[in-house]
Amino acid sequence: MLFCSNKIHGSKIQKIRTFARMSNFLNKTFKVVNLGCKLNFAEASTIARQLSEMGFVHASAKNSADIYVVNTCAVTEQSEKKCRQAIRKLSKENNNTTICVTGCYSSIKPFEVEQMPEVNLVADKGEIAQKIGEYFSAQPTFNAQLSTLNFFSAYSSGDRTRSFLKVQDGCDYHCAYCTVPLARGASRNISVEKIVAQAQKIAAQGVHEIIITGVNIGDFGKSTNENFYQLAQALEKVEGISRYRISSIEPNLLTNEVIDFVAASQKILPHFHIPLQAGNNRVLGLMRRRYTRELFAERLQSIRKKMPLAFIGVDVIVGFPTETDEEFEDEYNFLKTLQPAYLHVFPYSKRPNTPAAEMEQVPHVKITERAKRLGELCENLHADFYKKNVGQNANVLFESTRKNGMMFGFSENYIKVALPYSAELVNKIVKVKLTNISSEGYMLCEIL
Ligand code: SF4
Repeated sequence: MLFCSNKIHGSKIQKIRTFARMSNFLNKTFKVVNLGCKLNFAEASTIARQLSEMGFVHASAKNSADIYVVNTCAVTEQSEKKCRQAIRKLSKENNNTTICVTGCYSSIKPFEVEQMPEVNLVADKGEIAQKIGEYFSAQPTFNAQLSTLNFFSAYSSGDRTRSFLKVQDGCDYHCAYCTVPLARGASRNISVEKIVAQAQKIAAQGVHEIIITGVNIGDFGKSTNENFYQLAQALEKVEGISRYRISSIEPNLLTNEVIDFVAASQKILPHFHIPLQAGNNRVLGLMRRRYTRELFAERLQSIRKKMPLAFIGVDVIVGFPTETDEEFEDEYNFLKTLQPAYLHVFPYSKRPNTPAAEMEQVPHVKITERAKRLGELCENLHADFYKKNVGQNANVLFESTRKNGMMFGFSENYIKVALPYSAELVNKIVKVKLTNISSEGYMLCEIL
């Protein structure tokens, strides 16, 4: 179940409420501080839009704000620590500010967050804007239906060339180490039709690329009796959007149907992010993952058969409880053979109320050592992937960032490509030839 509360603790909040009623909320400025994943990023952007629609004013980057909304993460113990640090820092650096907290950390540990003297308000993401409105006696004007559906629709906008579109929330898998189902609840989604309408809104803003985002997007469709394949087919037809990336998909849900569709698609890019988590079947079983490493390897083969130069990023957790040195070596060699383009390495972090927390833990020093080894392997794999792409043609969507006179963008298969800066190429898809790799590690190119 998702947590939802707007606790008033002590006289501090009462005082702020009284003050707020006397003041004009329209002059109140806000900033949304996001911590965590792409899904959080989409949700933070939506909270900012809702507050703007209600009449609050987005504070400029240079100025401090009257209200800070902190969208928290709880994926590891370290993430929770970073959230607490961010809250304390905001409070210290901004006198008389109102700090409102939402997101996974405050869902899992509401009491802990509420107890922080810096925090004024805690609420679920679907309700935070409305609660802030009430807090400052504003009348919410956004579509309140969003929160009553128990699915907080979200997409990012105005921040990047790309937009993150949330299509699914929650998870029914209950992997032994994960707190996400506790923080975000059961798997659910809105309909393909509603998501297409959101993609159309994003297209109307001139955004060319959408990242299809969710907690377990392969599980899409449980609430509406649809599936991810149908969603992909419908999104392909949205006019104005030229490219989609699939953010992360469980290997057991990445069907041949989806792989074949991506291979044939004009818009869904050959970029896969697939969580492996452990390269050893005993550890996978203990983690309660729903596949073996053989199935994982077979999924990668299917992708490469149709899309030999697809970008494949793989998540791995190192130092899961009871993982032996031999099992880690086994995983290391397995990953070396698989040759993904990138490894997202996560040192195991013990989370309370998970089965893994009760298992025999691997010493920290070993976890750090294993993470380092996989980090080095990742660097080599990533460099090899770039080398394989030298000489290829690519379509690159260039972004606005300018650094040392260069601009950057990503190819279809997620190669970071650089060109001397040219304002007219920002947010344009440009056909280029990939020529060589710079000393900084990005790909240089020439325009075709
Ligand atoms: S699939 Fe497993 S790791 Fe991923 S969100 Fe669900 S429970 Fe967590």
